[in-house]
Amino acid sequence: MKLQERDKKHLWHPLTQHKLHPETIAITKAKGCILHDEDGNEYIDAIASWYTCMYGHCNEYITNRVAAQMQQLDQIVFSGFTHEPAIKLSEALIKILPDNQNKIFFSDNGSTSVEIGIKMALQFHFNKGEKRNVLIAFEDGFHGDTFGSMSVSGLSVYNGPFEDFFLEVKRIPTPNGKNNDAILNTLNTIVKTNKVAGLVYEPLVQGAAAMKMYDSEGLNAILRFCKNHHIITVADEVMTGFGKTGKYFASDYIDTKPDIICLSKALTGGLVPMGLTTCSEDIYEAFYSDDIRKGLFHGHTYSANPLACTAALASIELLQSGTIQQNIKTIIASHKVFNEHIKAHPKVKSTRQIGIIFALDLNVEMKRYGNLRDKLFKHFLDHGVFLRPLGNTIYIQAPYVITKEQLEKVYRVIEDVLEII
Ligand SMILES: *Cc1c(COP(=O)(O)O)cnc(C)c1O
Repeated sequence: MKLQERDKKHLWHPLTQHKLHPETIAITKAKGCILHDEDGNEYIDAIASWYTCMYGHCNEYITNRVAAQMQQLDQIVFSGFTHEPAIKLSEALIKILPDNQNKIFFSDNGSTSVEIGIKMALQFHFNKGEKRNVLIAFEDGFHGDTFGSMSVSGLSVYNGPFEDFFLEVKRIPTPNGKNNDAILNTLNTIVKTNKVAGLVYEPLVQGAAAMKMYDSEGLNAILRFCKNHHIITVADEVMTGFGKTGKYFASDYIDTKPDIICLSKALTGGLVPMGLTTCSEDIYEAFYSDDIRKGLFHGHTYSANPLACTAALASIELLQSGTIQQNIKTIIASHKVFNEHIKAHPKVKSTRQIGIIFALDLNVEMKRYGNLRDKLFKHFLDHGVFLRPLGNTIYIQAPYVITKEQLEKVYRVIEDVLEII
């Protein structure tokens, strides 16, 4: 029996209504930018498997290092013990993170990295004897699927059963260059009537909101407002981190640095799961005390797993290499050329790009949206490209190692799809 059929018996997939979408594709092998399925089809992974495998699938520089680490130390409790892979990773990260970041806290995925960011923000004030219970977040943001991170995400149709149990969150629009004064007025009103502990935000690009990009000066003004009101700023760089925007971190574009940064996805180059929450010395100091209760009593069994740390360290070395830095520049330039070519197409409503992230909105009636999205997705796969449209947005976030020919093919299937809608 095919894997596709055996899958149906016991497996329950994420973000899937199985009655409406019963079919899966069984991937048997992945190398570089190419996915192979059980029927012998090949697909270019143009979204790097949700932006994780940025150095290509099964990258040997990473897998060899992890294989060696496997012979040395596999797993160890990270409370009371430490190890070289975690220490080396912390040293490498601190070198590339914004200057104010100084401490690193481990977890397992993007949602937990945000969850911990939220707990740090709430407990920071608690430890200082101030009860602050409200968070601020952008409309349309996405921060993960655990309760804290769901709470700060834009209300979605999928969250219905849980909304009554959310943390208290006030929402503001993303800055667009024209609404900055209005946003600051709203913030002023919010702080007058609420005890605000923190702001959680995706810097410059909202991934799940279909790669929505927004104004950096407006964001800077919001972050400055937060600093002035002792509101802890938590930058969710789970998607934007590690070179996607053309700099190591999206926060590098903004003068005011966040107090806390959440990382995952490309952190380990897609080899194994890991999340990180980093913070400034100021945050850490609020927890450093003779009083044991002021500590951050949060921990996951696999915190700082040595194999994950090794994968992350090897990934950061690749990111810093001349080859990858050059690849990033080449992809950025290539997207710009494609954009010039495609932006005036009558089926294209708008395009946007930051770094290697390119997105295009289709000029189509929204009522066709559900079926149209499935039609596009299938068209891309039938033509050997894995792209996952979000509503009427098609976006590319390909591995940094994508070849010129592969990237040309991705552009071509997008251009071709415009003819069938
Ligand atoms: C994917 C994502 C998350 C959640 O990460 P998981 O590892 O899926 O839990 C959080 N924030 C952002 C910005 C993301 O893109």
